[in-house]
Amino acid sequence: MSRRKFLHLIAGLLASTSVTPLSAASAKRIVVVGAGIAGLTAAQTLRQQGHSVTVVEARDRLGGRLWTSKRWQHMPVDLGATWIHGATDNPLSALADRIGAKRLITRYANTTTYNTAGKPLNNAEIRQLEQWQARIDKALEAAQTADTDQSVQAAVEKALGWNSLKASERQLVHFILNSTLEQEYAGGIHELSAHWHDAAAAFKGDDALFPDGYQVIVDHLAKGLDVRLQHVVQQVTWSDKQVTVQTDRGAFQADHAIITLPLGVLQSEQVTFSPPLPARKQQAIATLGMGTLNKCYLQFPTVFWPDDQDWLEYIPSEAGAWTEWVSLTRVADWPVLLGFNAAERGKRIEQWTDQQVVSDAMQTLRKLFGANIPDPVDYQLTRWNADPYARGAYSFNSVGSTPAMRDHLAESLGNMVLFAGEATERKHFSSVHGAYLSGLRAAQQILE
Ligand SMILES: Cc1cc2nc3c(=O)[nH]c(=O)nc-3n(C[C@H](O)[C@H](O)[C@H](O)COP(=O)(O)OP(=O)(O)OC[C@H]3O[C@@H](n4cnc5c(N)ncnc54)[C@H](O)[C@@H]3O)c2cc1C
Repeated sequence: MSRRKFLHLIAGLLASTSVTPLSAASAKRIVVVGAGIAGLTAAQTLRQQGHSVTVVEARDRLGGRLWTSKRWQHMPVDLGATWIHGATDNPLSALADRIGAKRLITRYANTTTYNTAGKPLNNAEIRQLEQWQARIDKALEAAQTADTDQSVQAAVEKALGWNSLKASERQLVHFILNSTLEQEYAGGIHELSAHWHDAAAAFKGDDALFPDGYQVIVDHLAKGLDVRLQHVVQQVTWSDKQVTVQTDRGAFQADHAIITLPLGVLQSEQVTFSPPLPARKQQAIATLGMGTLNKCYLQFPTVFWPDDQDWLEYIPSEAGAWTEWVSLTRVADWPVLLGFNAAERGKRIEQWTDQQVVSDAMQTLRKLFGANIPDPVDYQLTRWNADPYARGAYSFNSVGSTPAMRDHLAESLGNMVLFAGEATERKHFSSVHGAYLSGLRAAQQILE
């Protein structure tokens, strides 16, 4: 069956989660490592086809990098992924439609950008920003056809004659690189490959978020599954007859295992493989990058920012500091702002206390909206890099990596141990839909 046909068939089945029974002889025992969207998708697909599936998950919750916090009454906020990117033809939209999940659309057209002094850009400043954007685009286009790869930073600095730029011009360039690349790919500009940083394919349409949180998708996919929470996988041992997944609470024997560990976890070598992983898979793990993106939600007693905007951007004097904000007021009518810090800046603030992060965020907001704005009534923030079961936000194409490395990461070990997860998707890495498609792919490999 072609992959497209399989996807179509399975997407329909996943909407219902009903099971087609198999005879005991043809039902296989399958262990899925990780209850993120890749693992849950693979597990549910195989369960529906009548196989005996167990999911082992280190955390005490489902979803992995999908994580909806219900701490604020009537305002569930996503601490992991927020959006279905390119909602028109994204396969997650079809799943969300089938289960009747509510969605809201945020639009980049609803963006106000503020200069370093905190004033909305005037027309001349907007034109200046567009001109720098065009120069950067040109520099990166040229770098993409160059024989050897280099970092985005090296390519841009060389092309723009960095040493001759004024401090204010450098600030603009850093703002553009942070807001368009670091915030999107989560890798630093000194690490992102000029050749391959943007190798991911995009779906058409605006971005949609779930007012009830991405959890609606997680809960749906997990229905009826045997999930063992708080089981930390330590070792995977395999032969051509059997796979053993060793956890801190016992071992699981299976005919196949699907590994959906995040790239950062694979890099940390906290899970070992016996026999060891093939050299080219090890090389892919070592070379691809795991990026950082952290969120800081601030809930306020009143809305003091423009309530018709979805995005607020700031050109900071310190590279990457609170450049991107999302307002949840227009779409959801919540008095909530979400600030992002990516890459090096995102990593650095993980060392700070919560109070330091919030007060740093408030300094920026006071520049934009005045000294008299109220303090937040509450906050929620993330530290994805320090999270032992994620070790970063999502993968990126670093200097020295190639898209083929993602195929190497995805390769199965004798069709006994299969690999899924966002990092294994050459075309859709770093996304929820990539993880979802990878789960379908791994399930299909077993079903074939
Ligand atoms: C802050 C942030 C914002 C994002 N925003 C978006 C967005 O808006 N749109 C989008 O498309 N994507 C976004 N992403 C990316 C998206 O969330 C991920 O690509 C996707 O959720 C990854 O799913 P996965 O199943 O591959 O991995 P995971 O969800 O990480 O699942 C892997 C699972 O393995 C478990 N695990 C780890 N180690 C062990 C172990 N030793 N034993 C057992 N289990 C283990 C983990 O706990 C986890 O549950 C964002 C990510 C972050 C962090």
